[in-house]
Parts: sequence; structure tokens; C-alpha cells
Amino acid sequence: MIELKQINKYYRNDEEVLHVLKDINLSADAGEMIAIMGPSGSGKSTLINTLGFIDTKFEGEYLFEGENLITTTDDRLSKIRNQTVGFVFQNFSLIENYTVYENVELPLLYNGYSFHQTKEKVMAVLAKVGLADKAEKHPRQLSGGQQQRVAIARALINQPKFIIADEPTGALDTHTSNDIMELFKELNRQDQVTIFLVTHDPEVVPYCTRLVQIRDGAIIEDRTVIEA
Ligand code: ADP
Ligand code: ADP
Repeated sequence: MIELKQINKYYRNDEEVLHVLKDINLSADAGEMIAIMGPSGSGKSTLINTLGFIDTKFEGEYLFEGENLITTTDDRLSKIRNQTVGFVFQNFSLIENYTVYENVELPLLYNGYSFHQTKEKVMAVLAKVGLADKAEKHPRQLSGGQQQRVAIARALINQPKFIIADEPTGALDTHTSNDIMELFKELNRQDQVTIFLVTHDPEVVPYCTRLVQIRDGAIIEDRTVIEA
């Protein structure tokens, strides 16, 4: 599904050139669940921004389902991003004065769905994450784990090919963190959603099919954890 070939990425300041991604070769098949680990500053954010079509200035090739998307226009790229990838963050990134329903509906707003189509889609993903009864609540009325479930529902709303989760359990206690990992695992196994998961937490790794370790912008380890 995804093929990064010989990706190099530089940040140029006035005085120095920072080489942040070094000869990255990374392929991912549909249905994989890949943990990405590495120290702060090692290039994890830059890598996932590249994978998620947010960062498109790099050397090398990014093939998505065999197509080189980076040569395409900005408009088409943002459309592809919208339909292909869902993002989940450490701090949930929900809008506080929107209800759960409104937060999850947000990525659909300009897709031209009718009220009924929208409602059906929103309620389906809320049911999937176990929050069908919380649609009219506001984020502050929910626990951290429930807020992260809302964020996961929002990430799923456009039926993405893959999800990028940046430290999704970083703000949660161990028990809640395990619950969230079980949910990701279920989405991965049952719905074949491909997941990239940036984490500092070694306890997250056993849920994944594969572990990729990064140091100083280079992949230093890429191994199978459990069979996909
Ligand atoms: P990580 O997510 O592993 O902490 P990042 O990808 O955020 O690593 O950063 C990798 C390196 O690139 C770091 O040295 C960081 O300071 C630098 N960096 C990240 N974004 C920028 C930017 N927009 N401009 C300049 N340097 C950046
Ligand atoms: P994370 O917590 O994921 O490691 P960072 O703190 O590394 O994130 O970076 C936060 C944001 O700041 C990112 O968008 C990154 O691209 C940007 N950034 C990081 N380092 C630099 C830098 N040296 N110069 C400019 N922007 C940077």
C-alpha cells in the first residue's frame, strides 16, 4: 500500500542544514499495525507527516498504492489526504464547545452528504468506539479515554486507508491506555485498518505487528512483532 523509497529530508536554517530523514526505505501493507519509536528529535514527527501527506518537501519517492502522489497538485493532495488518512493525537484535539457528534461530523462537512447520511455515518463510528450514547455530550463531560475514543471515531469517519496515531496513549493511565490499544487492535484486525503508532511506551509494542525504531533520522531497526 505504502512505499517510501530512499527518502531524505533537510531543514535549512541560516547557519546550518539539519538532515532529519536519512535514506528512509519503508513499506507498509494494508492491515499492518506499526509502532514507531525513537528519542525526541529523532525524526518521528517528520516521518509521520511525510506518511500522512502533510509534509511533501523531501527527496526520494512516496508511492501510495503504486501511484506517486507527490507530483500531484495541492488540491488533489488535500482531497487524497482527507479520504486516505485519519489522525489521532496525544491531547485528543477535540473542539471543547462542540458536542461529541459535532466533533466527529467535522471531517464530513464539505463532502456534500445529506443530514441523514451524515447522521448514519457519525452514529456508526460512535457505535464502533463504544460511545453511541455520548453523542450529545461535550468533551469535558467525558473521561480521557472516552475523549480519545471520540478522536478515533473522528479519524475513522471518512473510512481512511490508514490511521496515524501520535502518542495516542501518552496522556492516559495504564488501564485506559490498554483499553485504547485494544480498540486499535480490534479496528486493525476486524476492519483491516492500517495503523502507524508513534509511541514512547514499550507496553504498546506487543499490540503491534511490527516495530520500526528511528535514531537521528535513520531507521535502525524494522522487525516483525506478531504476524499481521
Ligand atoms: P521527533 O518527532 O522524533 O521528536 P521531529 O521530526 O519533530 O522529531 O524533529 C526532527 C528534527 O528536526 C529535530 O532536530 C527538530 O528540531 C527538527 N525540526 C522539526 N521540524 C522542524 C522545522 N519545521 N524546522 C526546522 N527544524 C525542524
Ligand atoms: P513532538 O512533541 O511530536 O516531538 P516537536 O516538539 O518536535 O513535536 O515539534 C513540534 C512542532 O514544532 C512540529 O510541527 C515541528 O515540525 C516543529 N519544530 C520542531 N523543531 C523545530 C525547529 N527546530 N524549528 C522549527 N520548527 C520546529
